[in-house]
Amino acid sequence: MTNGAVTLGDVAARASHLSVECSRCDRRGRYQLARLITALGPDFRMTDLGAELANCPRRTAAVHERCDVYFPGLIATMDDDAGCSPAEA
Ligand SMILES: [Zn+2]
Repeated sequence: MTNGAVTLGDVAARASHLSVECSRCDRRGRYQLARLITALGPDFRMTDLGAELANCPRRTAAVHERCDVYFPGLIATMDDDAGCSPAEA
C-alpha cells in the first residue's frame, strides 16, 4: 500500500471477488477483481471505486440522493494480516 490508499491491486492480492452494496437502493453484487483491474488498472483507488460502480439511475442525482456504494467485505479482507479475520458481513 502507498500513502494509506487501498488500490484494486492490493485487494486483488487477497481476494478474487469484491462484494458491493448500496445503502440507498437495492443495488448489490459481486465483481471479479481481475475484471475490474482490466478495466481500471491495479492502481485504481478503492475510494474512487464506489463512484465508478454507482451507475444506478441515481448516479446523476443530487449528492445526498446519489448512490452510496460501499464494500461490506473489504475491511475484513484487508485485515487478514491479523490472523483472525471476522466473518464477512
Ligand atoms: Zn443505489
